[in-house]
Amino acid sequence: MNAIVFLGIQGSGKGTQAKLLSELIGYRHINIGELLRAQIQKGSDTGKQVDKITTRGELVSDELVIDMIGAETSQEKKGIIFDGFPRTLAQAVVLLEKYHLLRVYYLDLPEQEAVKRLSARRTCRVCGENYNLLTHPPRSPALCDICPGHLCRRPDDKPIAIRKRIAEFYRQTHNLKDLFEEKNLLLTVSASGGIKEIAETIKRDIQIHLPR
Ligand code: AMP
Repeated sequence: MNAIVFLGIQGSGKGTQAKLLSELIGYRHINIGELLRAQIQKGSDTGKQVDKITTRGELVSDELVIDMIGAETSQEKKGIIFDGFPRTLAQAVVLLEKYHLLRVYYLDLPEQEAVKRLSARRTCRVCGENYNLLTHPPRSPALCDICPGHLCRRPDDKPIAIRKRIAEFYRQTHNLKDLFEEKNLLLTVSASGGIKEIAETIKRDIQIHLPR
């Protein structure tokens, strides 16, 4: 199974770029954070555990993430775009073993900018659409542009959880880019540019790396 990965600090725009690339090449976009939030919504025992861990800004267990990814991708035919996976070395090892990794896009953003963006992020309670009061504001301050839902701040976008999540990123995820670089799979793209400009860079690159 072909796979493409978006790697980057929280707020670097992985979700936005993964969605655009998915629309362009028809690979399925899998956002692990969203899969986990769906478990929380269900109110299952797993969901309750996940809720506590994610609200603290910590990572959930590798076993849970790897099982979820396996279940989600088993029926896929064309290819997958992962956003939020891998975040640990154990997850990266599984990725390299089980998928044919075409490319890893590392969206590079300074830590201070990430904190600023996460603090300004708002999510629709109903459809889950993401906004950013600085870079992608909704037309009306507290309402979704797409549905009648109200916008809220995710529990893990509060200052203490943001600090913890960023610390976890530097502790467990940031170094994974070296692993992919050694395998000539990595392209680093500055996440400070505009959404379209970044998408164009990725589009040009993926055209060279997609199987014919
Ligand atoms: P995100 O929406 O990508 O910021 O993810 C929200 C939360 O889900 C993270 O702060 C983690 O608690 C959890 N999470 C998402 N992806 C992973 C992963 N690959 N491994 C472990 N935990 C994850």
